[in-house]
Amino acid sequence: MAIVRCPSCTKRTSDQQQQCPHCGSTLNLDDADVGERRRFLKDQLYRYRMGGHVSVTVMVLAIIIWWIPTNGQLSNIPLWLKVALAAGVLGQGYCRYHIFRFKRLLKALTDNDKAG
Ligand SMILES: [Zn+2]
Repeated sequence: MAIVRCPSCTKRTSDQQQQCPHCGSTLNLDDADVGERRRFLKDQLYRYRMGGHVSVTVMVLAIIIWWIPTNGQLSNIPLWLKVALAAGVLGQGYCRYHIFRFKRLLKALTDNDKAG
């Protein structure tokens, strides 16, 4: 008997269980399922990394476009810049959160491979 991580919720459980006692998802994935899930997780990671880059680019471009003509006068921040900055910060947080989450799920799959 070995301790494995649930591929859905990443909590520890026994490999003798058919279903995760924490979230109820199926534990005994065969190799094809694991491969498919790993591809899915890597795709998701790639998407959210791209999203992270886009949100940083939006923030930087907004600041540059605003900074050059106004010479950085802080009293004079236009609404569109505030919106762009807020969108960039929120987008960044959103993508960071999902990158963290999918990395954990991917690590759970990899750890199970080593254990089994
Ligand atoms: Zn679970």
